[in-house]
Amino acid sequence: MNKSPLCSSALRIILGDQLSEELSALKNIKPEDQILMMEVWDETNYVPHHAKKIAFIFSGMRHFALKLAEKGHQVFYKTLLADKAQKVDQSLFVSNNFNPHELTPRSFTEAVENFLNEKNNSFFEKIVITEPGEYRVLKLIQTWEGLFKIPVEILEDTRFICSIKDFKTWAGARKSLRMEFFYREMRKKTGLLMDTDEKSPLGGAWNFDHDNRKTPKDNQHFPSELKFTPDQVTIGVLELVQTCFSSAFGQLKPFELPVTREQALLVLKDFIDNRLPYFGDFQDAMVLGENQLFHSTLSGYLNIGFLSPLEICHAAAEAYQQSLAPLNAVEGFIRQIIGWREYVRGIYWLKMPEYKTLNFFNAKQPLPDFYWTGNTSMRCLSHVIQMTKQDAQSHHIQRLMVTGNFALLIGVSPQEVCDWYLAVYLDAYEWVELPNTLGMALFADGGFLGSKPYVSSGAYIDKMSNFCKSCIYQVKKKIGPEACPFNYLYWDFFIRHKPLLEKNPRLGIVYQQISRMNLEQKQMIQNDSANFRQNLLETQDFYGELKNKN
Ligand SMILES: Cc1cc2nc3c(=O)[nH]c(=O)nc-3n(C[C@H](O)[C@H](O)[C@H](O)COP(=O)(O)OP(=O)(O)OC[C@H]3O[C@@H](n4cnc5c(N)ncnc54)[C@H](O)[C@@H]3O)c2cc1C
Ligand code: SF4
Repeated sequence: MNKSPLCSSALRIILGDQLSEELSALKNIKPEDQILMMEVWDETNYVPHHAKKIAFIFSGMRHFALKLAEKGHQVFYKTLLADKAQKVDQSLFVSNNFNPHELTPRSFTEAVENFLNEKNNSFFEKIVITEPGEYRVLKLIQTWEGLFKIPVEILEDTRFICSIKDFKTWAGARKSLRMEFFYREMRKKTGLLMDTDEKSPLGGAWNFDHDNRKTPKDNQHFPSELKFTPDQVTIGVLELVQTCFSSAFGQLKPFELPVTREQALLVLKDFIDNRLPYFGDFQDAMVLGENQLFHSTLSGYLNIGFLSPLEICHAAAEAYQQSLAPLNAVEGFIRQIIGWREYVRGIYWLKMPEYKTLNFFNAKQPLPDFYWTGNTSMRCLSHVIQMTKQDAQSHHIQRLMVTGNFALLIGVSPQEVCDWYLAVYLDAYEWVELPNTLGMALFADGGFLGSKPYVSSGAYIDKMSNFCKSCIYQVKKKIGPEACPFNYLYWDFFIRHKPLLEKNPRLGIVYQQISRMNLEQKQMIQNDSANFRQNLLETQDFYGELKNKN
């Protein structure tokens, strides 16, 4: 741009989910370059984030800043309550200075502006930043060049296997974008689980899902999770979150999450040794009192930058090579990362900003209050929401087939549901949350991401979990006050949306079944569903409703 710099140093900005030494914004860094990291209010409250999520990100950022400083870089860090960024050293994060926070910069733009002003605008020849994970933040960064009159280099995020540009090229030539075909491309590109000819999949198939999805036995043992004692840096962050976000959703403590790459690597090793062999078998299972079963819990550590997708996949492939885990488990796991994770990111950047506004079913119901409290007599929902409050984590089927399924069945506005998922999970950033929620769970994109809506009656939840045994509702009953609400809501959903769905080739059987129902059956389904939805709006309390009817 038009300023002639006094100095040839670059300002390298690292965002809260870019905590990787391999980050493109850190490539070719020179000793005179300065690194800026910022905790700002706008990022903490654009949705009401889980307290653990805020603490996890801030602690991860502070540890990463210290690590970079220890390696000799000039690192400046703006803590949430500070007016300006300060040079990082061991003492910076020891205590919190609880200033009135209204005065501190609220946005990235304000914080960067303050920093540049302090340095004198012509101190840096350019700003270097890796592309952010959210469209909203990209738009903001794109204003900086004009605002600050300094060149801004936005670099590709090379932590992903498929670049945004390559995904667009792949998508451009296709009428329908199915994950399975994209996944095969990623297998070939990475060489993961490929035969020696480098063209055919190991084991003769791309996908071993037919071997997966078993239900655990009653006495099934699940490995316990690794826990980490908070150090002084994390304790400082916990104090901050307790003070500034006292009414945040979810339990802040106990806080035993990994907050550095080194700790995340221990979680990866623990997963490979103890859970991966059973990952495929019990991928869809749900058990009362258990949150993760044989899942990895790695998404949060991957999305924040502690781990890279390829190193995780290579560790899993290595376990297969050493006969420590079967192919169905390893393939299923790798597919989630190089398939689903890369695919949803591609869809996000292909379709934003319109994607966020889609509402195929024109769903308008508000999100039930119990999504925030867990207080509902439906056991499946209360379990998943309580676990979410406790851990800020939940495995895929709990998100998709319990909370997502229910929201779709009752017709909650996609934007409200998306905000909830974005707020409550440790791993939630919009690039990954939005396609999963709006596209996969709610079918609000009309089938762009998935070929049919993921809805189920109580039978599926009963088959994959032990929730129904202790639920006040009866999963085998289809109609009436004791019936599992998922049962009548399921049929009501398809009846209500017949004009939009009946031509979907994957739903032929559903509509054949509906055509065999008599008028009275359909009427009862619709009446029970309408009553249920009305009660939900008025009371939020079905247990009371059920008792009254009894
Ligand atoms: C409604 C809904 C919202 C979701 N929101 C998020 C989110 O905000 N952030 C997020 O990372 N994942 C999200 N997912 C995907 C998935 O549920 C989580 O990645 C997974 O539950 C994380 O737990 P885990 O690490 O134990 O995963 P595992 O089951 O062990 O899977 C291994 C890894 O695969 C990746 N993965 C698996 N499924 C997906 C997927 N569908 N999309 C992207 N990556 C995937 C994750 O990185 C995960 O760590 C969402 C799914 C649904 C249905
Ligand atoms: S009976 Fe229905 S509401 Fe109760 S746990 Fe089972 S699926 Fe959920």
